[in-house]
Amino acid sequence: MIKNFFKTFLLWELLLGLKLTGRHLFSRKITLQYPEESTPKSVRFRGLHALRRYPNGEERCIACKLCEAVCPALAITIESEPRADGTRRTTKYEIDLFKCIYCGFCEESCPVDSIVETGISDFHFEKRGEQIIGKQQLLAIGDKYEAEIAKARIEDAKFR
Ligand code: SF4
Ligand code: SF4
Repeated sequence: MIKNFFKTFLLWELLLGLKLTGRHLFSRKITLQYPEESTPKSVRFRGLHALRRYPNGEERCIACKLCEAVCPALAITIESEPRADGTRRTTKYEIDLFKCIYCGFCEESCPVDSIVETGISDFHFEKRGEQIIGKQQLLAIGDKYEAEIAKARIEDAKFR
């Protein structure tokens, strides 16, 4: 009882709080100045999608539609037809990034490592409809970031 009285009178809890604040005042700061700085990302980070090509420039996707079938958010829409050389390729490959939940199932299901999720986490849309990203945009992202994508997959290969 008397102990509680003195604790209240001497603002004991306040001192405890100040002690904690003081302990962190001169310690190493962990606040990052985003967007100039960002936290390190795992090679398994699931960000913006990309479609990859083989080194000879041929697109990897064979329009098997496994990614479309496995997508739990029904975010992927694919149309396909045979080419003149008899191979099958997509004529339409769209991902609705508002529907996507970035689960990575599309990437996991792809037999030819075509659709992947990159480490890109900073992207935005300015007009209605821009969230539906098409085949050419996905291929362009793949072309631009192929080196990073390939490196991440090599690093992750031993865990697959
Ligand atoms: S990450 Fe998941 S939700 Fe998004 S497109 Fe791929 S399978 Fe669909
Ligand atoms: S991205 Fe992969 S899983 Fe999807 S249709 Fe193309 S080859 Fe099949």
